[in-house]
Amino acid sequence: MAGAMTPLGQILARRIAAQGPMSLSDYMAECLLDPRHGYYSTRDPFGAAGDFTTAPEISQMFGEMIGLCLAQVWLDQGRPERFVLAELGPGRGTLMADVLRSFRKLPALHHAARPVLVEASATLKARQAQTLASEQVEWRDSIEDLPGGPLYLIANEFFDALPIRQFQRDASGWREVQVGLAGDRLTPGLTAPGPIAALAHRLADTKTGNIVELCPALPPVAAEAARRIRAKGGVALVIDYGDWHSLGDTLQALSGHAPTDPFLAPGTADLTAHVDFEALAQAWAAPGIAVTAMVPQGPFLERLGITARAKSLAARLAGAPLENHVAAHRRLTHPEEMGNLFKVIGCHPAGTPIPPGLLPVT
Ligand code: SAH
Repeated sequence: MAGAMTPLGQILARRIAAQGPMSLSDYMAECLLDPRHGYYSTRDPFGAAGDFTTAPEISQMFGEMIGLCLAQVWLDQGRPERFVLAELGPGRGTLMADVLRSFRKLPALHHAARPVLVEASATLKARQAQTLASEQVEWRDSIEDLPGGPLYLIANEFFDALPIRQFQRDASGWREVQVGLAGDRLTPGLTAPGPIAALAHRLADTKTGNIVELCPALPPVAAEAARRIRAKGGVALVIDYGDWHSLGDTLQALSGHAPTDPFLAPGTADLTAHVDFEALAQAWAAPGIAVTAMVPQGPFLERLGITARAKSLAARLAGAPLENHVAAHRRLTHPEEMGNLFKVIGCHPAGTPIPPGLLPVT
């Protein structure tokens, strides 16, 4: 059975044969984070030689703009002497390194920041320790374990890596997508239809055949951030690809920068799904918390001054490095590249100024 499959594929096929089909979210969790065979547990997937690249890996300017935004929030919120600068899913640690480097221009700010990384993969923790060797960083396993105090939280392409459940609308309810077996191949299938309480409100705006996704881990993580920010001050900035209101199948597998079948070689491809920013805003919504509008990444970076920064860096470059730099600026901001596909949203204590780059809900 399952002769040509990956080691994780064989384990999952045996489990399904014994216990029946598994939910898509359990499947994603195993593929990404199984300690022995999971995608993030076994590799550093970033960069040209890897499977995908991310904004902080494209240019230092991305982290510099995030740093600028957080610095202004710190000034606006009365320069707390100590705050937790936390990042969820920090990858290679590049974004945190660029943020901390930008903080060094204001020594009191750098001194006040206590950087804490929330990372599940031991391989990537080791990589982060290398990148951040010159900084004093700590690691925690989850947002609940973060130290107390004001929270300045960043998450770039973290929520898209959290497992999702998928449902297909039926005449009277929903069928859930499950991973089962067809011969010795893993294959998606559907449960019998039934009501799903968490999707009751979606019966009004969907029709038979539509796919809706839920990310069960998102609301508790987001709500915990808002709770801390409401109690002690701070800000949360989430950057990811996705949109407002989940509709349609957004599960994607990437291997070697090319799309692949998510069920073909479990553990060897990155699996992601678009982030539903409406779900983030709903999880944040609470008395004492202001949630910003969702804005596209390009204009967000433009408002923070990325073009002026790009010009000043360009003045020191020539030849191929200059061409790469110009291409990186375009890639981060242009609407046909990451500028529109990626979105940004934030929350901060009600009554404090909105973080620069973001816009209020109109
Ligand atoms: N933010 C980085 C990396 C994005 S990739 C960048 O922009 O380059 C997703 C990251 O989230 C990886 O570091 C992965 O190991 C981590 N991750 C995925 N699921 C996680 C979880 N449940 N808890 C903590 N980290 C997780």
